[in-house]
Amino acid sequence: MYVFAKELDTEKTFIPEGEIQLLLEETKHPDKQFVREILQKSLEKNRLEPLEVATLLNVEDAELIEEIFAAARALKEKVYGNRIVLFAPLYIGNDCVNDCVYCGFRSSNPEVYRKTLTFDELRKEVEALVKRGHKRLIVVYGEHPRYSPQFIAETIRIIYETKVGNGEIRRVNVNAAPQTVEGYKVIKEAGIGTFQIFQETYHQPTYKKLHPRGPKSNYAWRLYGLDRAMIAGIDDVGIGALFGLYDWKFEVMGLIYHTIHLEERFGVGPHTISFPRVEPAIGSEISYNPPHKVSDEEFKRLVAIIRLAVPYTGMILTAREPAELRKEVLKLGVSQIDGGSSIGIGSYSQDDPEKVKKSQFILGDNRSLEEVIQDLLREGYIPSFCTACYRMGRTGEHFMEFAIPGFVKRFCTPNALFTLKEYLNDYASVETRKLGEELLKKELERIEKRELVEKYLERIDRGERDVRF
Ligand code: SAM
Ligand code: SF4
Repeated sequence: MYVFAKELDTEKTFIPEGEIQLLLEETKHPDKQFVREILQKSLEKNRLEPLEVATLLNVEDAELIEEIFAAARALKEKVYGNRIVLFAPLYIGNDCVNDCVYCGFRSSNPEVYRKTLTFDELRKEVEALVKRGHKRLIVVYGEHPRYSPQFIAETIRIIYETKVGNGEIRRVNVNAAPQTVEGYKVIKEAGIGTFQIFQETYHQPTYKKLHPRGPKSNYAWRLYGLDRAMIAGIDDVGIGALFGLYDWKFEVMGLIYHTIHLEERFGVGPHTISFPRVEPAIGSEISYNPPHKVSDEEFKRLVAIIRLAVPYTGMILTAREPAELRKEVLKLGVSQIDGGSSIGIGSYSQDDPEKVKKSQFILGDNRSLEEVIQDLLREGYIPSFCTACYRMGRTGEHFMEFAIPGFVKRFCTPNALFTLKEYLNDYASVETRKLGEELLKKELERIEKRELVEKYLERIDRGERDVRF
């Protein structure tokens, strides 16, 4: 096994707890002018430094908070345009040797419905997802010896092989326990997209309390989990914190230090950042009353500040949050959302409300994929299932969107439109098709290389699939 001493040493990590507390203390009551300079720096597409992030986190003045929101919206539009990438979570199995107190899957919870999909059941789940139009998944596993790297790789291969009509899954991202370098290599072989690990809380004393047993109780092993993934050659990694466990400002600082660490060590930061809030989970007292509950207002602030702090990352907002709030938060810098999610194990192919109730936690947004797409179209977004960069070997696509002038206009927007067109032709109702075609028309009016894009769209109309720039 390939382990660095520091990966097991919880004393010496790249999260300097004292420094973070000090920065948050020293930046209280920030100067207006300084805040505006920071916003300007971010609008020029620079990653912010910890002192600057702490300053934004301490803004309490209503007018300045509005300026933070406005800057986040402007940055998002400037860098990414109006595309929103859609995906679905697919839970493969929830056996778990850990005992994370906020999670329905924890080992000491007798109330949860426990299940690992058989390969046949997995195929049925994938078929159900493909039939609804999905192209991108995040697969989720508990932590258990039966979910070995070989098992994870096998499930991913099955997903890619499962085709229905014109449809197939084109990108599988993974949310699973931290692996050894060798383990990651086995999983990478199956052709994964992003490997995600959320640190949950970057605050060690809180981490220790909330993860009392099992391999996850080692803070440093988890913290360096994505370093090992990158050493194994996985280019896209996703970080995250579970908000509500400790002070939200500290957690945002943790995400920034994590980003800086990856940049310094590997020359590239995280591909995505996730910021779930703790949701009610069956049999988990703390999940109903998180010790540091984050209000909707604070949530919006933290999303905007993450957007500004790390302008080049993708940001993922999940259906843990209610639909109305999702619509608002979307504007502040989110690039990916899930649609039509179900987190009951086996519940895409078999509708069983009892099992859904006994799943990991309760979702806030229960709209179908089609409803999510309609809402996006009505608000002027391009719903996208694009996987072009990944399939063309252009990894780190968020970085390209960000770093290469004109990349979004030349590649991302047309590719997003192609996947929307596929969806409209293959899966959409009359109503959705109408909304989608209207949006396509509007986008075509302002697109570069319009003729070429139109030719590609015609190819889709003639039945060709997976066309891309
Ligand atoms: N078992 C692996 C792990 O813990 O990393 C991967 C799967 S775990 C189910 C995925 C994520 O779900 C966790 O990292 C955690 O952030 C999140 N989660 C757990 N309990 C939650 C809750 N009650 N509400 C919202 N998110 C939760
Ligand atoms: Fe297991 Fe992950 Fe849930 Fe913890 S968060 S109990 S490791 S599934």
